[in-house]
Amino acid sequence: MGITAIRGFNDILPSEVGKWQFVEKTAREVFEGFGFAEIRIPILERTELFSRGIGEATDIVEKEMYTFTDKGGGSLTLRPEATASMARAYLEHQLYAFDPVAKLYCFGPMFRYERPQKGRYRQFYQIDAEVFGVGNPVVDAEVILMLIHFLRRVGLEKLELQINSLGCRDCRPRYREGLKAFLTEKSFQLCEDCQRRLQTNPLRIFDCKVQTCQEAIADAPKVSDFLCGECDTHFDKVKECLSMANLDYVLNPRMVRGLDYYTRTAFEVVSYDLGSQNAVTGGGRYDNLFQEIGGLDIPGIGFAIGMERLISLLPKDKEFIRYPDLFIAAPGKGTHGEAYRLANQLHLEGIHTEFDYEGKSLKSQMRRADKLKARYVLILGEEEMKKGRAVLRNMADKSQEELPIDNLTGILKNKIGKD
Ligand SMILES: [Zn+2]
Ligand SMILES: [Zn+2]
Repeated sequence: MGITAIRGFNDILPSEVGKWQFVEKTAREVFEGFGFAEIRIPILERTELFSRGIGEATDIVEKEMYTFTDKGGGSLTLRPEATASMARAYLEHQLYAFDPVAKLYCFGPMFRYERPQKGRYRQFYQIDAEVFGVGNPVVDAEVILMLIHFLRRVGLEKLELQINSLGCRDCRPRYREGLKAFLTEKSFQLCEDCQRRLQTNPLRIFDCKVQTCQEAIADAPKVSDFLCGECDTHFDKVKECLSMANLDYVLNPRMVRGLDYYTRTAFEVVSYDLGSQNAVTGGGRYDNLFQEIGGLDIPGIGFAIGMERLISLLPKDKEFIRYPDLFIAAPGKGTHGEAYRLANQLHLEGIHTEFDYEGKSLKSQMRRADKLKARYVLILGEEEMKKGRAVLRNMADKSQEELPIDNLTGILKNKIGKD
């Protein structure tokens, strides 16, 4: 074998890409219905955007970023997520000058240097949606409603919405200290990584998979016990708005989010569709992000959906591949030119038509039509053509009919375009 792809970098083949297109198309329809507009941001950014925006003491910034020095000497990073870049674009282009509220979405690849395993790649894809400029809890509920509506539209049914509030600049540090004090007494139980996290970012200990660490945090204090009055009121209003939108939710006090910029509302959606429990997506509010990257004091909320995970959860019975509408079988030298002419006309009409390029036998052409799963086959036999006729075969029910050669394009367009 010659040159292969880099480990963790994945091809999405034509047989799979229909699912991706379906998900993206549905996202566009749903998000734009909620007033979101697409934004396309660069794949490379200055490293400091992520180290400041995501936070130095996170796995992403500490270990997982693709960072390199370019020929100009600057430190650049392949984006590990989209939110910081979207916030940067909002500030840089002063989108707030037109309207302080910006509802934005984007699709695209993200890059993290993680150990590749099944379903996890170093280049992976996300769908991101963000609202900048609104602190009001009504928008938290609206973003969550849009997310759930989208997931249902792509075919996920057994969904559970989990929510929590992470507090604000005032109460989150108090919680962090409370958690630190609690875990310091249990620090002998913590793994080496978590010993360090205890000093730098104790909230991240919740994400540790090590058994003794899980045991240590089992009765850790809850963030809800530390919320200030304003955060309490904010969270109550989110819950009220979710109920008004007929959305069920469960409270999950263990959802704390390691990323430094998260504040107040945090949410996750779990799918029970494939018999097991799968976290589909998560998101939340990040009212500190803009200040971290050197901007104004602007609130934000949003979510990111991992495409690979979402696609693995799509209904198995749905068909995503577009098979040919028509295969033109033209056995015989005299008919080959007619097949080419007709196929060209049908292509211009948007009818997916295939024909044989090599002038093979009728039997071999029919085999190929079958393999390609063409819906119809038009047989241009030399004898029939002399009589001004062709045979159209419906491959599903095997019925056949004779059609006049004159105006075949019009007849086929009507017939095939209609089903
Ligand atoms: Zn607070
Ligand atoms: Zn640990």
